[in-house]
Amino acid sequence: MALYECSLTRMTDKIETMSKFGDAGHGGVTRYTLSPEDGQAREEFRKRMKSIGAEIEIDDVANMYATLPGSDPDAKRIVMASHTDSVRNGGNYDGILGVMSAMEVLETVVENNIPHKHPLTAMVWTNEEGSLYPPAMMVSGIVCYDYLPENVKGKFKFEDMMKSKSVLDSDVTFGDALDKSIYKGDKKNRLSRKNYKCMFEIHNEQGPILEDAGKNVGIVDCVLGMFNYRLRFFGQSVHAGTFPMDKRQDALFAASQVICYLHEEIDKLGHPELVYTTGEIVCHPNVHTVVPDDVDFCIDCRHESAELREKVLEIVKGCADKEWAGCKCEVEKMWNRDTVYWDKTLFSYVKEAAEETGISHEVLHSGAGHDAQFASYMLPTTMIFVQSKDGLSHCEPEFSSAEHCTEGTTILLNAVLKADAE
Ligand SMILES: [Zn+2]
Repeated sequence: MALYECSLTRMTDKIETMSKFGDAGHGGVTRYTLSPEDGQAREEFRKRMKSIGAEIEIDDVANMYATLPGSDPDAKRIVMASHTDSVRNGGNYDGILGVMSAMEVLETVVENNIPHKHPLTAMVWTNEEGSLYPPAMMVSGIVCYDYLPENVKGKFKFEDMMKSKSVLDSDVTFGDALDKSIYKGDKKNRLSRKNYKCMFEIHNEQGPILEDAGKNVGIVDCVLGMFNYRLRFFGQSVHAGTFPMDKRQDALFAASQVICYLHEEIDKLGHPELVYTTGEIVCHPNVHTVVPDDVDFCIDCRHESAELREKVLEIVKGCADKEWAGCKCEVEKMWNRDTVYWDKTLFSYVKEAAEETGISHEVLHSGAGHDAQFASYMLPTTMIFVQSKDGLSHCEPEFSSAEHCTEGTTILLNAVLKADAE
């Protein structure tokens, strides 16, 4: 098969242009979903895709689709998709890189007159970040709803999602924003098993593994399985000045003992690639003159192996078997998910494309969730990562070089053509 190359000049221009939409003035963007800034990015997408003759469609949850017809009128579409929205003070690559890559693939196909049987679609997902209207991956949750595992599904009911309140203004819901938006289209245009053959998503890595390995592009094999549990501690509030230390039941002290205990015990399992985090802690009454009576924190743990996650979970659950600093401990499951493996055939196309083009690459896992994760329950799906400088993401210094972005896109293009030739 002939190999094709994407354009560094065109990619650089897209990165520079898109970075203006929501520019917060210090290197990054704040581009909430369906905001005027998001509208600017969407119009840029529409303008560029129309100019190469792609047909633009919008579905009922504001996802945008730009499609180039293929030579076979009955063939299903091959879609490349990511999101245009960002977190508050986010970077210029998370999400938008996957949209720009999808555009670049279509532009390269048109410029080089590359023959293809299947229609090729570049797609914009709405509200992936969930930073204005929670939760994250909201709209892929809605669109892929019927295919989601039972333990995930409940979170993404259409009616509930429409009621999701803006974190900036509790009078406004996601449904209101959608109704007011010019991007609310027709439900029949939604991504579907009927009309789509498979999906690819390029994303910035959001971690330091590729850079540390000296590789430019990541061939992603799975999204890591994870669990999220809550540990609660019950003590007794007393006056900070009058109550002796040896009689206290300080729930915050208990919780901090357990956090240290968890780090010691989990590290003893000896798996450096295992990650676990306590990123949130709630302390009651959170007053400087009162000994805390009620404290809880979460633990988020991620690894490919279900067996290893189970071992960690035993340690976590074991915390409830005894008292800590005189406080009772309860352990409660919030949610979990199994490792989601990408489609083996698509993965092999990406790997072959990387090898044939000679672009520096490495196979790795994704620790973060993406729209592709939900799409994978509906369609064969896979992902490609582009090196993130210093592993930084969801922040303004987030950076991937235009060269690496173009290399990732070249791999995407050639992998898409392999899927097309099937
Ligand atoms: Zn993203």
